[in-house]
Amino acid sequence: MRLPRLSPDRPDIDQATVKKMIDRAMKAGCNYFDTAYMYHDGLSERCLGELLQAYPRDSYYLTDKMPVWFAKNPGDIEKIFREQLARCKTDYFDFYMLHALDTANWKLAQTYEACEFLARMKKEGKIRKLGFSFHDTPEVLQQIVDAQEWDFAQIQLNYLDWELYRSREQYEILTKAGIPVIVMEPLRGGSLATLSPDATEILKTADPGSSNAAWALRYVASLPNVLCVLSGMTLPEHMEDNLKTFSPLKPLTDSERKTLDLALAAYRKRLAVPCTACRYCMPCPVGVEIPRIFGLYNQYKITGNKWLFLNNYNAIPEDSGASACVNCGRCVKHCPQKIDIPAQLKKIAAEIA
Ligand code: SF4
Ligand code: SF4
Repeated sequence: MRLPRLSPDRPDIDQATVKKMIDRAMKAGCNYFDTAYMYHDGLSERCLGELLQAYPRDSYYLTDKMPVWFAKNPGDIEKIFREQLARCKTDYFDFYMLHALDTANWKLAQTYEACEFLARMKKEGKIRKLGFSFHDTPEVLQQIVDAQEWDFAQIQLNYLDWELYRSREQYEILTKAGIPVIVMEPLRGGSLATLSPDATEILKTADPGSSNAAWALRYVASLPNVLCVLSGMTLPEHMEDNLKTFSPLKPLTDSERKTLDLALAAYRKRLAVPCTACRYCMPCPVGVEIPRIFGLYNQYKITGNKWLFLNNYNAIPEDSGASACVNCGRCVKHCPQKIDIPAQLKKIAAEIA
Protein backbone atom coordinates (compact mmCIF):
# COMPACT_ATOMS: atom_id res chain seq x y z
CA MET A 1 0.00 0.00 0.00
CA ARG A 2 2.90 2.37 0.66
CA LEU A 3 5.34 1.47 -2.11
CA PRO A 4 7.80 4.16 -3.24
CA ARG A 5 6.25 6.43 -5.89
CA LEU A 6 7.82 8.23 -8.81
CA SER A 7 5.98 11.37 -7.73
CA PRO A 8 4.12 12.12 -4.48
CA ASP A 9 0.96 13.18 -6.34
CA ARG A 10 0.57 10.15 -8.61
CA PRO A 11 0.09 6.43 -7.98
CA ASP A 12 2.96 5.37 -10.32
CA ILE A 13 5.37 3.10 -8.50
CA ASP A 14 9.15 3.45 -8.47
CA GLN A 15 9.54 -0.12 -9.69
CA ALA A 16 13.36 -0.08 -9.74
CA THR A 17 13.45 0.69 -6.01
CA VAL A 18 10.74 -1.88 -5.27
CA LYS A 19 12.79 -4.50 -7.12
CA LYS A 20 15.83 -3.76 -4.96
CA MET A 21 13.66 -3.94 -1.84
CA ILE A 22 12.10 -7.26 -2.84
CA ASP A 23 15.51 -8.76 -3.61
CA ARG A 24 16.85 -7.58 -0.26
CA ALA A 25 13.76 -8.84 1.58
CA MET A 26 13.89 -12.29 -0.01
CA LYS A 27 17.60 -12.61 0.75
CA ALA A 28 16.95 -11.74 4.40
CA GLY A 29 14.15 -14.31 4.70
CA CYS A 30 11.22 -11.88 4.52
CA ASN A 31 8.89 -13.62 2.09
CA TYR A 32 5.32 -12.40 2.73
CA PHE A 33 3.90 -9.86 0.25
CA ASP A 34 0.58 -8.12 0.77
CA THR A 35 -1.33 -6.25 -1.90
CA ALA A 36 -4.91 -5.21 -2.73
CA TYR A 37 -7.07 -4.35 -5.70
CA MET A 38 -7.06 -0.62 -5.16
CA TYR A 39 -3.54 -0.04 -3.78
CA HIS A 40 -1.77 2.48 -6.01
CA ASP A 41 -4.90 2.40 -8.22
CA GLY A 42 -4.27 -1.26 -9.14
CA LEU A 43 -0.56 -0.78 -9.86
CA SER A 44 0.54 -2.50 -6.64
CA GLU A 45 -0.84 -5.88 -7.78
CA ARG A 46 0.76 -5.45 -11.20
CA CYS A 47 4.11 -4.42 -9.73
CA LEU A 48 4.29 -7.42 -7.40
CA GLY A 49 3.03 -9.73 -10.14
CA GLU A 50 5.85 -8.66 -12.38
CA LEU A 51 8.72 -8.49 -9.89
CA LEU A 52 7.94 -11.73 -8.07
CA GLN A 53 8.29 -13.62 -11.38
CA ALA A 54 12.03 -13.63 -10.57
CA TYR A 55 11.38 -16.12 -7.74
CA PRO A 56 9.94 -19.66 -7.65
CA ARG A 57 6.23 -19.44 -6.76
CA ASP A 58 6.65 -21.62 -3.66
CA SER A 59 9.43 -19.42 -2.23
CA TYR A 60 7.09 -16.61 -1.11
CA TYR A 61 3.58 -15.98 0.18
CA LEU A 62 1.31 -13.68 -1.83
CA THR A 63 -1.74 -12.10 -0.23
CA ASP A 64 -4.60 -10.27 -1.94
CA LYS A 65 -8.03 -9.01 -0.91
CA MET A 66 -11.61 -8.82 -2.23
CA PRO A 67 -12.99 -5.25 -2.18
CA VAL A 68 -16.72 -6.11 -2.03
CA TRP A 69 -17.65 -2.42 -2.33
CA PHE A 70 -16.41 -2.47 -5.94
CA ALA A 71 -19.07 -5.06 -6.86
CA LYS A 72 -22.24 -3.74 -8.47
CA ASN A 73 -23.61 -7.09 -9.72
CA PRO A 74 -23.38 -10.67 -8.38
CA GLY A 75 -20.88 -11.64 -11.12
CA ASP A 76 -18.45 -8.85 -10.20
CA ILE A 77 -16.87 -10.78 -7.33
CA GLU A 78 -15.63 -13.49 -9.70
CA LYS A 79 -14.60 -10.88 -12.28
CA ILE A 80 -12.47 -9.01 -9.73
CA PHE A 81 -10.89 -12.23 -8.45
CA ARG A 82 -9.92 -13.38 -11.96
CA GLU A 83 -8.55 -9.93 -12.72
CA GLN A 84 -6.42 -10.08 -9.57
CA LEU A 85 -4.96 -13.47 -10.54
CA ALA A 86 -4.09 -12.03 -13.95
CA ARG A 87 -2.61 -8.80 -12.57
CA CYS A 88 -0.51 -10.77 -10.07
CA LYS A 89 0.50 -13.29 -12.77
CA THR A 90 -0.31 -16.18 -10.46
CA ASP A 91 -2.57 -19.27 -10.36
CA TYR A 92 -3.31 -18.96 -6.65
CA PHE A 93 -3.06 -16.73 -3.59
CA ASP A 94 -1.45 -18.10 -0.43
CA PHE A 95 -3.60 -15.84 1.73
CA TYR A 96 -6.79 -14.16 0.54
CA MET A 97 -9.17 -11.97 2.48
CA LEU A 98 -12.41 -10.13 2.31
CA HIS A 99 -11.06 -6.59 2.42
CA ALA A 100 -11.86 -4.06 5.14
CA LEU A 101 -14.88 -5.79 6.64
CA ASP A 102 -17.17 -3.60 8.68
CA THR A 103 -20.95 -3.76 9.06
CA ALA A 104 -21.57 -2.37 5.56
CA ASN A 105 -18.98 -4.47 3.73
CA TRP A 106 -20.00 -7.63 5.59
CA LYS A 107 -23.55 -7.03 4.37
CA LEU A 108 -22.29 -6.51 0.82
CA ALA A 109 -20.27 -9.74 1.07
CA GLN A 110 -23.51 -11.54 1.87
CA THR A 111 -25.49 -9.75 -0.84
CA TYR A 112 -22.97 -10.83 -3.49
CA GLU A 113 -22.32 -14.29 -1.93
CA ALA A 114 -18.62 -13.50 -1.72
CA CYS A 115 -17.94 -16.03 1.05
CA GLU A 116 -19.49 -18.85 -0.97
CA PHE A 117 -17.45 -17.91 -4.05
CA LEU A 118 -14.18 -17.64 -2.11
CA ALA A 119 -14.83 -20.97 -0.36
CA ARG A 120 -15.20 -22.48 -3.83
CA MET A 121 -11.91 -20.90 -4.91
CA LYS A 122 -10.26 -22.42 -1.83
CA LYS A 123 -11.61 -25.84 -2.75
CA GLU A 124 -10.20 -25.40 -6.27
CA GLY A 125 -6.76 -24.52 -4.83
CA LYS A 126 -6.83 -20.89 -5.97
CA ILE A 127 -6.79 -19.76 -2.35
CA ARG A 128 -4.70 -21.54 0.30
CA LYS A 129 -5.83 -19.64 3.43
CA LEU A 130 -9.05 -17.66 3.62
CA GLY A 131 -9.58 -14.79 6.03
CA PHE A 132 -10.64 -11.16 6.29
CA SER A 133 -9.24 -7.78 7.18
CA PHE A 134 -11.30 -5.83 9.63
CA HIS A 135 -12.18 -2.26 10.61
CA ASP A 136 -15.07 -2.05 13.03
CA THR A 137 -16.05 -2.73 16.63
CA PRO A 138 -15.34 -5.92 18.61
CA GLU A 139 -19.11 -6.62 18.55
CA VAL A 140 -19.13 -6.74 14.73
CA LEU A 141 -15.96 -8.83 14.76
CA GLN A 142 -17.65 -11.38 17.00
CA GLN A 143 -20.53 -11.72 14.51
CA ILE A 144 -18.13 -12.34 11.63
CA VAL A 145 -16.08 -14.82 13.65
CA ASP A 146 -19.26 -16.71 14.59
CA ALA A 147 -20.59 -16.77 11.02
CA GLN A 148 -18.16 -19.33 9.56
CA GLU A 149 -14.69 -20.86 9.83
CA TRP A 150 -11.73 -18.61 9.08
CA ASP A 151 -8.05 -19.46 8.64
CA PHE A 152 -6.81 -16.06 9.84
CA ALA A 153 -7.85 -12.43 10.34
CA GLN A 154 -6.02 -9.17 9.80
CA ILE A 155 -6.63 -6.40 12.31
CA GLN A 156 -5.26 -2.96 13.11
CA LEU A 157 -2.99 -3.52 16.07
CA ASN A 158 -0.41 -1.27 17.70
CA TYR A 159 0.30 0.05 21.18
CA LEU A 160 -1.74 3.23 20.61
CA ASP A 161 -4.84 1.43 19.30
CA TRP A 162 -4.64 -1.39 21.88
CA GLU A 163 -7.11 0.59 24.03
CA LEU A 164 -7.97 3.62 21.80
CA TYR A 165 -9.35 1.55 18.90
CA ARG A 166 -10.32 -1.47 21.09
CA SER A 167 -7.70 -3.62 19.37
CA ARG A 168 -7.09 -5.56 22.59
CA GLU A 169 -10.70 -6.80 22.57
CA GLN A 170 -10.40 -7.73 18.89
CA TYR A 171 -7.18 -9.63 19.51
CA GLU A 172 -8.79 -11.49 22.41
CA ILE A 173 -11.89 -12.47 20.37
CA LEU A 174 -9.69 -13.92 17.61
CA THR A 175 -7.37 -15.67 20.06
CA LYS A 176 -10.30 -17.27 21.89
CA ALA A 177 -11.70 -18.48 18.54
CA GLY A 178 -8.31 -19.98 17.59
CA ILE A 179 -7.91 -17.61 14.62
CA PRO A 180 -4.31 -16.44 14.02
CA VAL A 181 -3.82 -12.69 13.70
CA ILE A 182 -2.04 -10.80 10.96
CA VAL A 183 -1.19 -7.31 12.15
CA MET A 184 -1.78 -4.24 9.99
CA GLU A 185 -0.90 -0.68 10.91
CA PRO A 186 1.72 -1.67 13.52
CA LEU A 187 3.16 1.85 13.09
CA ARG A 188 -0.26 3.48 12.66
CA GLY A 189 0.43 4.85 9.21
CA GLY A 190 3.99 5.76 10.19
CA SER A 191 3.00 8.01 13.07
CA LEU A 192 4.49 5.67 15.71
CA ALA A 193 7.78 5.83 13.81
CA THR A 194 7.99 9.59 14.31
CA LEU A 195 6.05 10.12 17.58
CA SER A 196 6.46 13.44 19.43
CA PRO A 197 9.81 14.79 20.67
CA ASP A 198 8.96 14.08 24.33
CA ALA A 199 7.81 10.50 23.59
CA THR A 200 10.89 9.89 21.42
CA GLU A 201 13.13 11.15 24.19
CA ILE A 202 11.66 8.59 26.62
CA LEU A 203 12.37 5.72 24.19
CA LYS A 204 15.84 7.00 23.24
CA THR A 205 16.86 7.32 26.89
CA ALA A 206 15.81 3.72 27.53
CA ASP A 207 17.51 2.32 24.42
CA PRO A 208 19.62 4.73 22.34
CA GLY A 209 20.20 2.08 19.64
CA SER A 210 16.51 1.41 18.85
CA SER A 211 14.27 3.33 16.48
CA ASN A 212 10.71 4.28 17.42
CA ALA A 213 9.52 1.86 14.72
CA ALA A 214 11.46 -0.99 16.33
CA TRP A 215 9.64 -0.44 19.64
CA ALA A 216 6.25 -0.53 17.89
CA LEU A 217 7.04 -3.63 15.84
CA ARG A 218 8.43 -5.50 18.84
CA TYR A 219 5.26 -4.65 20.76
CA VAL A 220 2.94 -6.42 18.30
CA ALA A 221 5.36 -9.21 17.39
CA SER A 222 5.64 -10.14 21.09
CA LEU A 223 1.94 -11.13 21.19
CA PRO A 224 1.66 -14.95 21.05
CA ASN A 225 -1.25 -15.21 18.59
CA VAL A 226 0.40 -13.01 15.95
CA LEU A 227 1.16 -14.90 12.74
CA CYS A 228 2.67 -12.06 10.73
CA VAL A 229 3.38 -8.34 11.12
CA LEU A 230 2.86 -6.16 8.06
CA SER A 231 4.77 -2.98 7.61
CA GLY A 232 4.24 -0.72 4.61
CA MET A 233 7.83 0.17 3.74
CA THR A 234 8.29 3.13 1.41
CA LEU A 235 12.07 3.45 1.56
CA PRO A 236 14.89 0.89 1.59
CA GLU A 237 16.01 2.42 4.91
CA HIS A 238 12.62 1.49 6.45
CA MET A 239 13.20 -2.08 5.38
CA GLU A 240 16.75 -2.22 6.72
CA ASP A 241 15.51 -0.96 10.09
CA ASN A 242 12.69 -3.52 10.12
CA LEU A 243 15.02 -6.37 9.14
CA LYS A 244 17.27 -5.39 12.04
CA THR A 245 14.29 -5.52 14.41
CA PHE A 246 13.33 -9.01 13.32
CA SER A 247 16.80 -10.53 13.00
CA PRO A 248 16.18 -11.94 15.52
CA LEU A 249 13.07 -10.58 17.22
CA LYS A 250 13.58 -9.77 20.91
CA PRO A 251 10.19 -9.80 22.68
CA LEU A 252 9.55 -6.77 24.92
CA THR A 253 10.49 -7.19 28.58
CA ASP A 254 8.18 -6.00 31.40
CA SER A 255 10.38 -2.99 32.04
CA GLU A 256 10.37 -2.06 28.31
CA ARG A 257 6.55 -2.25 28.35
CA LYS A 258 6.51 0.29 31.19
CA THR A 259 8.80 2.57 29.16
CA LEU A 260 6.46 2.27 26.18
CA ASP A 261 3.47 3.16 28.41
CA LEU A 262 5.24 6.38 29.44
CA ALA A 263 6.03 7.28 25.81
CA LEU A 264 2.43 6.54 24.81
CA ALA A 265 1.04 8.80 27.54
CA ALA A 266 3.29 11.64 26.32
CA TYR A 267 2.29 11.07 22.68
CA ARG A 268 -1.47 10.81 23.28
CA LYS A 269 -1.51 14.28 24.76
CA ARG A 270 -0.47 15.66 21.35
CA LEU A 271 -2.43 13.66 18.76
CA ALA A 272 -5.14 15.77 17.05
CA VAL A 273 -6.76 13.48 14.40
CA PRO A 274 -6.47 9.65 14.52
CA CYS A 275 -5.78 9.38 10.76
CA THR A 276 -3.54 6.49 9.63
CA ALA A 277 -3.11 7.81 6.05
CA CYS A 278 -4.72 4.64 4.61
CA ARG A 279 -6.38 6.77 1.86
CA TYR A 280 -9.60 4.69 1.85
CA CYS A 281 -11.49 8.01 1.92
CA MET A 282 -9.96 9.07 -1.38
CA PRO A 283 -10.65 10.37 -3.92
CA CYS A 284 -12.80 13.14 -2.53
CA PRO A 285 -15.24 14.23 -5.28
CA VAL A 286 -14.22 17.87 -4.96
CA GLY A 287 -10.52 17.08 -4.63
CA VAL A 288 -9.82 17.70 -0.93
CA GLU A 289 -6.50 16.07 -0.02
CA ILE A 290 -7.81 14.57 3.21
CA PRO A 291 -4.90 12.39 4.47
CA ARG A 292 -2.29 14.99 3.47
CA ILE A 293 -4.09 17.70 5.43
CA PHE A 294 -4.54 15.49 8.52
CA GLY A 295 -0.90 14.35 8.33
CA LEU A 296 0.37 17.93 8.28
CA TYR A 297 -2.03 19.00 11.02
CA ASN A 298 -1.01 16.13 13.31
CA GLN A 299 2.64 16.90 12.71
CA TYR A 300 1.96 20.50 13.64
CA LYS A 301 0.17 19.54 16.85
CA ILE A 302 2.99 17.16 17.76
CA THR A 303 5.90 19.49 16.99
CA GLY A 304 4.17 22.82 17.65
CA ASN A 305 5.80 24.25 14.50
CA LYS A 306 3.01 26.35 12.99
CA TRP A 307 5.33 28.06 10.50
CA LEU A 308 6.32 24.70 8.98
CA PHE A 309 2.69 23.58 8.99
CA LEU A 310 1.53 26.68 7.12
CA ASN A 311 4.44 26.45 4.73
CA ASN A 312 3.57 22.85 3.82
CA TYR A 313 -0.15 23.46 3.91
CA ASN A 314 0.11 26.38 1.50
CA ALA A 315 1.67 24.03 -1.05
CA ILE A 316 -1.75 22.35 -1.31
CA PRO A 317 -3.85 24.04 -4.02
CA GLU A 318 -6.66 26.10 -2.51
CA ASP A 319 -9.39 23.96 -4.12
CA SER A 320 -7.88 20.85 -2.45
CA GLY A 321 -7.52 22.40 0.99
CA ALA A 322 -9.66 21.92 4.12
CA SER A 323 -12.01 24.82 3.27
CA ALA A 324 -12.95 23.20 -0.08
CA CYS A 325 -14.93 20.46 1.70
CA VAL A 326 -18.63 20.65 0.80
CA ASN A 327 -19.67 18.27 3.58
CA CYS A 328 -21.06 15.63 1.21
CA GLY A 329 -20.16 12.87 3.70
CA ARG A 330 -18.88 10.42 1.09
CA CYS A 331 -15.47 10.04 2.73
CA VAL A 332 -16.88 9.30 6.19
CA LYS A 333 -18.43 6.01 5.03
CA HIS A 334 -15.01 4.76 3.93
CA CYS A 335 -12.90 5.83 6.89
CA PRO A 336 -11.95 2.75 8.98
CA GLN A 337 -11.04 5.06 11.88
CA LYS A 338 -14.60 6.50 11.88
CA ILE A 339 -13.22 10.04 11.80
CA ASP A 340 -15.78 12.79 11.32
CA ILE A 341 -13.73 14.07 8.38
CA PRO A 342 -15.84 17.13 7.40
CA ALA A 343 -15.94 18.30 11.03
CA GLN A 344 -12.18 17.93 11.41
CA LEU A 345 -11.58 19.74 8.12
CA LYS A 346 -13.84 22.57 9.24
CA LYS A 347 -11.86 22.87 12.47
CA ILE A 348 -8.55 22.95 10.59
CA ALA A 349 -9.87 25.49 8.06
CA ALA A 350 -10.99 27.75 10.92
CA GLU A 351 -7.60 27.47 12.59
CA ILE A 352 -5.81 28.47 9.39
CA ALA A 353 -8.11 31.37 8.50
S1 SF4 B 1 -17.19 15.39 3.10
FE1 SF4 B 1 -15.71 16.89 2.31
S2 SF4 B 1 -13.76 15.82 2.33
FE2 SF4 B 1 -15.34 14.27 2.51
S3 SF4 B 1 -15.69 13.57 0.42
FE3 SF4 B 1 -17.20 15.21 0.83
S4 SF4 B 1 -16.23 17.10 0.16
FE4 SF4 B 1 -14.60 15.53 0.28
S1 SF4 C 1 -9.23 10.07 7.06
FE1 SF4 C 1 -9.69 7.93 7.49
S2 SF4 C 1 -9.86 6.93 5.48
FE2 SF4 C 1 -8.87 8.91 5.16
S3 SF4 C 1 -6.70 8.43 5.23
FE3 SF4 C 1 -7.28 9.04 7.31
S4 SF4 C 1 -7.79 7.13 8.35
FE4 SF4 C 1 -7.74 6.68 6.15
